[in-house]
Amino acid sequence: MKAIYIQNPGGVENLIYGDLPTPVPGPGQALVRLAASGVNFIDIYFRTGLYQADPPVVLGMEGAGTVESAGDGVTGLKAGDRVAYAMARGSDAEYAVVPAWQLVKIPDGVDFVSAAAVMLQGMTAHYLAFSTFALKPGDTCLVHAAAGGVGLILTQIAKKIGATVIGTAGSEAKLELAREAGAAHGINYSTQDFQQEVKRITGGRGVDVVYDGVGAETFLKSLDSLRPRGMMVSFGNASGPVPAIQPLMLSQKGSLFLTRPSLANYAVDRDEIAWRAGDLFRWIDDGSLKLRVEHRYPLADAARAHRDLEGRKTTGKLVLEIQ
Ligand code: NDP
Repeated sequence: MKAIYIQNPGGVENLIYGDLPTPVPGPGQALVRLAASGVNFIDIYFRTGLYQADPPVVLGMEGAGTVESAGDGVTGLKAGDRVAYAMARGSDAEYAVVPAWQLVKIPDGVDFVSAAAVMLQGMTAHYLAFSTFALKPGDTCLVHAAAGGVGLILTQIAKKIGATVIGTAGSEAKLELAREAGAAHGINYSTQDFQQEVKRITGGRGVDVVYDGVGAETFLKSLDSLRPRGMMVSFGNASGPVPAIQPLMLSQKGSLFLTRPSLANYAVDRDEIAWRAGDLFRWIDDGSLKLRVEHRYPLADAARAHRDLEGRKTTGKLVLEIQ
């Protein structure tokens, strides 16, 4: 089968578009013939070696396609079922083996590209807003990179819950998208000091929670944007990993809470995935969640997708179309 993989971590030039053996499903697994693979920042972490796995490392953490066959002990799935999943590596390929409990059936009316576009970033936005810091009506949250994949979905969900969203982004055009998604305030953090702006917007109080997927470049100012006892949710490293800090700093800045969550710990079984994915598909169906699949590439062009995402050239979702 054709796949995008690396033998050694590095730049986009290390991405190989080549042939690998089609995987065989073991007990509890299904073989999925992929139609679309979602591109996420985590693919860049695996490519550069920030996150590691044994080579050949087939990239892609999210896919949609058709069940081809199932291993022993798999129930409730049959060949031909349309399915989608996140957090099983290897979706940048024509076929992937996926633990059956991670697969959800795609509702009629949702196409493969949309399904591949919503699973990882959508379930992430869902757990951030409902589980890590359960937003309530009236809360104020700061969402960094609000025009990105996670950012646009998180902004919509937070607004839906009744929270006020302050969104940051690196350009005016991106801020416009964040506002369309429901951000009440937009801050261009390339030209404005977002900490000062947050203090101004909140009348000096600070926000209840910061959702920060940008990492190194925003971390400290994000802490300073919180109200006393607010929660810092550091969920990504788009600008690099956050350096070590002393716990005492959290006390000095207002008895803050700090968490560094991963979707892997918030989509732990079939029920949790069904809850999060079920909400997302229902909101797509009733029109209250708009997916912006802004960038589509053939599988062979994964390097271009990586370059665009890493280069801050994208908004919304990037998807590789496979077959
Ligand atoms: P995005 O579509 O949000 O792309 C990343 C965005 O980050 C860019 O578009 C850019 O927006 C902003 N950014 C700021 N500084 C930089 C920089 N130096 N280099 C690159 N980008 C920068 O990506 P995703 O939606 O895929 O992921 C967003 C974040 O969420 C990532 O950190 C990712 O790792 C994390 N994540 C974490 C998960 C978890 O469970 N912990 C799950 C899913 C994603 P702008 O130009 O507006 O600044």
